[in-house]
Amino acid sequence: MSLLDRAIAKALPAVPKPVVQVFSQRYIAGSTLADAVRVARRLNGEGKSATVDVLGEEITRESETRAIAQAYRDVLAAIEREQLDANLSVKLTGLGLNLSYELCRENLESVLDGGRFVRIDMEDASTTDATLRLYRELRENGRDNVGVVLQSRLRRTLDDIRALADLQPNVRICKGIYLEPASIAHTDYEAIRANYVRALHALAEIDGAHVAIATHDEWLLGEALRALPPSYELQMLLGVREQRASQLVHEGHPLRVYVPFGEQWYAYSKRRLQENPAMAGTIARATVGRVLGLSG
Ligand SMILES: Cc1cc2nc3c(=O)[nH]c(=O)nc-3n(C[C@H](O)[C@H](O)[C@H](O)COP(=O)(O)OP(=O)(O)OC[C@H]3O[C@@H](n4cnc5c(N)ncnc54)[C@H](O)[C@@H]3O)c2cc1C
Repeated sequence: MSLLDRAIAKALPAVPKPVVQVFSQRYIAGSTLADAVRVARRLNGEGKSATVDVLGEEITRESETRAIAQAYRDVLAAIEREQLDANLSVKLTGLGLNLSYELCRENLESVLDGGRFVRIDMEDASTTDATLRLYRELRENGRDNVGVVLQSRLRRTLDDIRALADLQPNVRICKGIYLEPASIAHTDYEAIRANYVRALHALAEIDGAHVAIATHDEWLLGEALRALPPSYELQMLLGVREQRASQLVHEGHPLRVYVPFGEQWYAYSKRRLQENPAMAGTIARATVGRVLGLSG
């Protein structure tokens, strides 16, 4: 991966939106619920389950948070109607966390009332405390169809695992996509990996925990497969390492694919493309490459 590709990934916001859309198609089911249903059905046909995410992070008004909660209830209805093997992934900021904790909880509970499992995605570090607090409140109130996410990038994660143990938690462990300062996060690639393995082992030791192992990193997958937790599933993102995912399914592992859809695809696409500088480089070459005389 070249330095040029990395530089281009950083400059991605300057790439025209329609161009990002073309290249991000592989990461997003589409803009409508029908698109999400179609993709989830295709994944189910391949032996993979789905977790559906309604894209809607850039909200500023209460009415928008209510609309997102409604969109999730619509997804639930579609999952039931189409008998899909799918659950939901939600972002608390989309449900109003930055407007009001109570509003956010109310919106989330309206989705949990559907009875299907709902995973609370973890966002940037400013939301970690509130997210874990809400998860605990819901579980202590008898809501069992909810899970949370921890990020091995964060230094606090092993402590968070210990603190969650009494809940027999359902945790997705991932590296963490939000870049955080070194004071609170590991910034070195190998340190993030090592902390992931430590987190995985700590989760595996919790009686009654379910662990969703979310990664495309082959080395980490190897570590996970050598010592799987008693209750686990593997998770990958739509459009990333699909053949490897199929191979894991053939080997008998439960595997779930994260399926985002919705009108607000731009922020999600930018994050995915910035994560994959080689792809961002391809975009740039396809658009401005000729003008700037870039090659290969
Ligand atoms: C199901 C799921 C849910 C997630 N939920 C959250 C969450 O709630 N909060 C959060 O902060 N993060 C979340 N993430 C993102 C995660 O934290 C990482 O940022 C992301 O998974 C990349 O880390 P990696 O472990 O796959 O390793 P990496 O080292 O980044 O990737 C390993 C390899 O996978 C391939 N790959 C990775 N990304 C791409 C890509 N975009 N395009 C093409 N190939 C790629 C490449 O071959 C790469 O070399 C989630 C990830 C998954 C899979």
